[in-house]
Amino acid sequence: MLDLICNSMKLIVLGSGTCVPSLNRNAPGYYLEAGDTGILVDCGSGTLLQLERAGRSYRDIDAVFITHTHPDHFADLMPLIHALRATPGFKRTKTLFIVGPALFIEYYDRAVATVLGRPREFSIQVTGISGRMDFGPFSVRTTKTVHSEDSIAYRFEHGGRAMVFTGDADYDEGIVDLSRGADLLIADCSFPDANKARGHLSARECGLVAREAGVKRLLLSHIYPADTPDIDRVRESREEFGGEVVLAGDLMEISV
Ligand SMILES: [Zn+2]
Ligand SMILES: [Zn+2]
Repeated sequence: MLDLICNSMKLIVLGSGTCVPSLNRNAPGYYLEAGDTGILVDCGSGTLLQLERAGRSYRDIDAVFITHTHPDHFADLMPLIHALRATPGFKRTKTLFIVGPALFIEYYDRAVATVLGRPREFSIQVTGISGRMDFGPFSVRTTKTVHSEDSIAYRFEHGGRAMVFTGDADYDEGIVDLSRGADLLIADCSFPDANKARGHLSARECGLVAREAGVKRLLLSHIYPADTPDIDRVRESREEFGGEVVLAGDLMEISV
């Protein structure tokens, strides 16, 4: 039993929404925990507050993994660094790792470092990932997604389990390959099938990826407002995928 706990990964959905301001769904952000390592996968605006609501703290975050440079996926990065530097009575000593697609390094220098400068108090290491890397207890793999010039998806493995974050992604072979056999697939489910938009998966396509990749569980997230109830997307996904389908909600917790 102890082994089971030590080897598991815990996900907290901080934001199941999009760039559209919503009282119910925060902009994209996820907290992923294994052992004593805690990371953010994307951090749209409001992520830091959601983290506090989830009973975790920005102070302890080891790394931020960014899927792409659309603001709804990284807008809280600057507030995070500022808070780490300027919280009275708090002194950060450990390095903050920021990982993103190769183009993100240049973006960081232009958009973040020019405003905040380089903190003296602790170091920030910005890394462009291509292919794979190890971080703490995680083995990390990525693939380019069909969405924007620099968009990538992440696969985190730990203790024989795998969790995949599509980021923003349209259907392609790469996302199916990356998701192969994953315990949990957190999928961009921007729209119901009737409103399918290029560069994003529809609910039915989320199910298609889940089926072709043979994942265990599918979590539908990145939910744009639509004319139909959000829960209808679960039915559309199930037309393709016979496994468990869950509609993401903010502050939902899932362990694998
Ligand atoms: Zn997005
Ligand atoms: Zn995007």
